[in-house]
Amino acid sequence: MRNTWLQTIKTFQKKLLEWFKSNARDLPWRRTHDPYHIWVSEIMLQQTQVDTVIPYYTRWINRFPAVQTLAQSPVSEVMKHWAGLGYYRRARMLHEAAKTICKKYAGVLPQDTDELRKLPGIGRYTAGAIASIAYNQKAPVLDGNVIRVLSRVEAVSNDISQLKTLNRLWQLAEAYLPDENTGDFNQALMELGATVCFPENPRCGTCPVASLCKAHRFKKEPSFPFNSRREKLLKKNSFTLVLRANGRVLMRRQPTEARWGGLWMFPYWESREAMLQDHSLICTEVGSTAKLKQRMSLTHGFTKYRIKLSVYESRLPDKVKSTHSILGDKNARWIPVAHLPKYALPSPHQKIADEISKDV
Ligand code: SF4
Repeated sequence: MRNTWLQTIKTFQKKLLEWFKSNARDLPWRRTHDPYHIWVSEIMLQQTQVDTVIPYYTRWINRFPAVQTLAQSPVSEVMKHWAGLGYYRRARMLHEAAKTICKKYAGVLPQDTDELRKLPGIGRYTAGAIASIAYNQKAPVLDGNVIRVLSRVEAVSNDISQLKTLNRLWQLAEAYLPDENTGDFNQALMELGATVCFPENPRCGTCPVASLCKAHRFKKEPSFPFNSRREKLLKKNSFTLVLRANGRVLMRRQPTEARWGGLWMFPYWESREAMLQDHSLICTEVGSTAKLKQRMSLTHGFTKYRIKLSVYESRLPDKVKSTHSILGDKNARWIPVAHLPKYALPSPHQKIADEISKDV
């Protein structure tokens, strides 16, 4: 029985690797085995689509071509090159880890997964990806795509929100890994999940391993993987104010510990009433009768939230000086609209900046 299973795995490896050879997408990080470049791409690809990552990756590698360049750069420069990609903690971790690699590992990423996992922001998945893709080590990977493919191929019906099931899937990822070409094999598994074995409507008709897939044999593909904690997106509102005076807009730098720590944002509130109250206080402070006008609205996703951002605008008198501190807020600054491209803004606020820049 076990021998048959091992033989099936060998066939799976062969079919998948052959398919990958002629179907792999040409992605910039696939043209290199540089461990630092692989690491950057893996961190950027967490929670972010490939098409979004490509221009960020290219700009990042141009600006920070080596671990040393990244380690020696100021955090503001690092954040500026991440701005718009979301989940900003990833950029801070990359920066921290680059400094550690220079100090402890002479500027070279370690090959061993246990050593890699000691670095900030590198978990079991990322360590496996770097070790296998850059160093061809026999290290498995398990991300959402691999979970889907393996749970379908092996018809693993247990709940993937349980640690026990994830451990079982890690064991499968290890068992399926060949002795050679481990980097290609891991990438092939992820590629199959991303381009063929979709969560809904998998393209089993073009799948290279369809003859070995138990879920396909039972015609139960969408039932795998089973996740009892699949959450529905929660709706949230946010109210943003573009406060203008004399060709400038008021921006706030987010405190380091905040979600968008270090980035610049237009002032925002969680309720319209709170925004109206503060606007009225600001008008009293600067002697203005300015009215609020709705300018635009945007929606964006963050973890389990779907956030509707209503953007309002108010023009204060030109006598308001660039040194005028609004409501004593030390993190706020009046920035000329024309200078906004020099600042790092998270993606939704960048869209607002792009919109208001059209007025100038
Ligand atoms: S046969 Fe279908 S369900 Fe099975 S791995 Fe291929 S695409 Fe996924």
